[in-house]
Amino acid sequence: MLRAVLEHGPVARSTIARLTGLSPASVTAYCAQFAELGLIRESAELRRSGGVGRPHQPVDLDDSRFVVGSVHVAVPHTTVALLDLRGRVVARREVKHERTEPAAVLARAADGLAALLAGTPGSKALCVGFAAGGWVDRDSGTVVEHPLLGWREVPVREVLGAHTGLPVHVDGHARALVNAERLFGGARGSRSVLHLFAGNVVDAAFATNDEVHHGPRSQAGAIAHLPVPGGTETCDCGRVGCLQAELSERTLCRRAQEAGIVDGVNPMHVVGAAAAGDPVAVRLLTERSRRVGRAVGLLLDVLNPERVVVTEIGIMYREDCLTALREEVEAGRAATVSPSSFPDSVLAVAGGSVALDILYRDPLGVSPEVI
Ligand SMILES: [Zn+2]
Repeated sequence: MLRAVLEHGPVARSTIARLTGLSPASVTAYCAQFAELGLIRESAELRRSGGVGRPHQPVDLDDSRFVVGSVHVAVPHTTVALLDLRGRVVARREVKHERTEPAAVLARAADGLAALLAGTPGSKALCVGFAAGGWVDRDSGTVVEHPLLGWREVPVREVLGAHTGLPVHVDGHARALVNAERLFGGARGSRSVLHLFAGNVVDAAFATNDEVHHGPRSQAGAIAHLPVPGGTETCDCGRVGCLQAELSERTLCRRAQEAGIVDGVNPMHVVGAAAAGDPVAVRLLTERSRRVGRAVGLLLDVLNPERVVVTEIGIMYREDCLTALREEVEAGRAATVSPSSFPDSVLAVAGGSVALDILYRDPLGVSPEVI
């Protein structure tokens, strides 16, 4: 029901009943509960159905009171943020990793969240969502393995919960971003969505009928070591030509360094060089997007999703990269592939979406602590 208000608000209670299949009496009762919790409010605008009869007051999301905390741990830095109930980033900051031990990273993330909350008086945090690449088990709230960070069996839910005093929900970032696209992005209303994330970590997630597939111990979507035909990069696993080794931003940056284009490991500098007209930077980016396109083609064959969302730096900023990617996908399917809906805030949105997905599934389960 809260999803119907998110997607259609301001919306009449009778419309909610039609959209959800709930009885008008149940909708009225839930509306009263949600309004009391501060999740929805009566909209200011009055509507008359068909211009006759008693005017009724539509309801809308109350996005002024609550936020969720967001923590996304990448290899070089952690992004902490606050998101409102519409998935919009209210505040954020990036915390660079001096060390990557879990205890240090999570303590600094909690400090960052506390500072953001202190800077936004009037908003109360309902819970915290955590997302990271690698193998993350939602049910146990654990990062089982993140080789690039050197994390193994890290009880994130417990540690972050102890630091923040808030309920913490944990998931892999590709799955987190499927939820972001379903709830707040371009995949709203799609019956099946595939998300491919190509950063330093490369992984995928798939949702059908509003359910993201996790599988036993949340191992679904681990595609890092799929072999790429013609690949030349040596992977951390010892083999040559693994998808993650070929597509990672580290590989892109190393190739750009070898070509004398950039001297660091920030892929945005390669995008910047391409924007300034460097033809080698353009070629490196379009070639990478083309390889991502081949991976999309493979996954399309296996999963046949209605929509494909790709988070990759080239296609988020360059039309020629998106064209190159789509050329690798069967012509009839190319238009179903689109870049992330959150080009400027993808990491900030990822963690928070883990929490917001839980909120929209079970508003009363998430909220009681605030009564
Ligand atoms: Zn490998």
